[in-house]
Amino acid sequence: MTRNGNLNNMAGVAKLPSVRKEIRFLPIRKANLMKLFNSLSGKKETFVPNDPSRVTMYVCGPTVYNYAHIGNARAAVVFDVVFRVLRHEFDHVVYARNITDIDDKIIKAALETGDPIDQITQRFTRAYNEDMAALNVLPPSVEPKATEHVDGMLSMIADLIEKGAAYEAEGHVLFHVPACESYGAISKRSREDMIDGARVEVAPYKRDPADFVLWKPSTADQPGWDSAYGRGRPGWHTECAVMIKEHLGETIDIHGGGQDLKFPHHENERAQAVCAHEGAPLARFWMHNGFLDVDKEKMSKSLGNVLLPHDLVESMPGEAIRYALLSAHYRKPLNWTASGLDRAKQALDRLYRTLSTLPGPHKASGPPESIRKALLDDINTPKAQAGLFDLARQANSSDNDQEKARIKQQMLAAGELLGFFQQEPESWLQSAGQAPDIDPDEIERLLELRQRARAAREFEQADQIRDQLEAEGIILEDGPDGTRWRLG
Ligand code: AMP
Ligand code: ZN
Repeated sequence: MTRNGNLNNMAGVAKLPSVRKEIRFLPIRKANLMKLFNSLSGKKETFVPNDPSRVTMYVCGPTVYNYAHIGNARAAVVFDVVFRVLRHEFDHVVYARNITDIDDKIIKAALETGDPIDQITQRFTRAYNEDMAALNVLPPSVEPKATEHVDGMLSMIADLIEKGAAYEAEGHVLFHVPACESYGAISKRSREDMIDGARVEVAPYKRDPADFVLWKPSTADQPGWDSAYGRGRPGWHTECAVMIKEHLGETIDIHGGGQDLKFPHHENERAQAVCAHEGAPLARFWMHNGFLDVDKEKMSKSLGNVLLPHDLVESMPGEAIRYALLSAHYRKPLNWTASGLDRAKQALDRLYRTLSTLPGPHKASGPPESIRKALLDDINTPKAQAGLFDLARQANSSDNDQEKARIKQQMLAAGELLGFFQQEPESWLQSAGQAPDIDPDEIERLLELRQRARAAREFEQADQIRDQLEAEGIILEDGPDGTRWRLG
């Protein structure tokens, strides 16, 4: 009987509070090696969830007025791996990634295109989900939309005003930054830096230059909601603070996003949530992915170098794009190049080719410890990718079918953690133009013929068959238990 089973039985018999407490914390044992870099402490820390039976993660999602670019995709893919690893280590993980469907950029897009706002937001929410699905990004557990949480935002704003942390001025409601003593804890910026960096217009009605908007007025042609402060709309930072509270709770385990969001967005989300919740931390771990540049340049419309997964998937499998996005550690910058993407594709071709030759069922077992450990060590995806190649090498050099089958199942399990091998090897190789033109039954028939020729010592005919298959790109390997074929 497992330790888990023992404890459950004990709980059934004794019902002692101390035993129940032990059961509550039991799942930690499985994941006690997980370390994550926490932007708040600036250190790698052991990740122990607040409630291991409900691990909570929130990631700031897209503002839906355009297709996601490859930098946005990096954030989605990185946190998808975090989600996959957490799901592997803990029984229940709730992952919320929001949709920002009210924002000035959306209003601007509607003015430019003449399309109604809800048409734009629905179109690009769908496109975002389709593009991310093409990169094997799992749907989050919840995908809250800002426009569906305006009531919650208005009640948080009212609460902050009552607590003296926010004030109304000329149709706006502003958060008063000096009300949050620890403001700046995530970005580690000085107050002067923050005021400069926020690049917010220092409006005359602000009590402090760092104060930021929780609610702003809408003109008649702008979307808006009636409120005690007049018709208006929420500020971006309030949206996330409220969606976190409503879907995950006051204090969550992990809050993620790209490093550009540390300031002002995450500082502002955190300040208002901490004030609204009597000092309770908003997130215990703050994780930030590094930026992606294209050919060493920041992506920008003016440079014309903005790459969209939506376009890239026309000529590259989404899984290869994903592989390239995970080829640098998530906290490091990633320089995106066409040759890097080609290398990612070739790496997957090689791994799929190995998988296609391995015997046994196409079924995942547990991931090998080396790959699990790499991922538990602050999501070291490049090390995990190298681990896949170690496995492939072991499999290719083994002549033991049982071992090969075991490695295949380990590779598939590691693939589930990383979001690779989501296709049957044959279909990957087929679409990669690597599948033999010749059908596998025909190959087996020729192998049988060659076997008979060899048994009859008709070596010339046997060699002819080998040459014919080689010309089709099929390599034969004679072993103690017969001949196996693989793609060359
Ligand atoms: P946005 O829609 O601009 O709010 O961005 C959505 C997510 O993508 C956020 O987590 C951003 O930090 C992230 N992001 C935006 N640009 C990049 C980039 N070039 N590299 C990495 N992450 C990015
Ligand atoms: Zn956010």
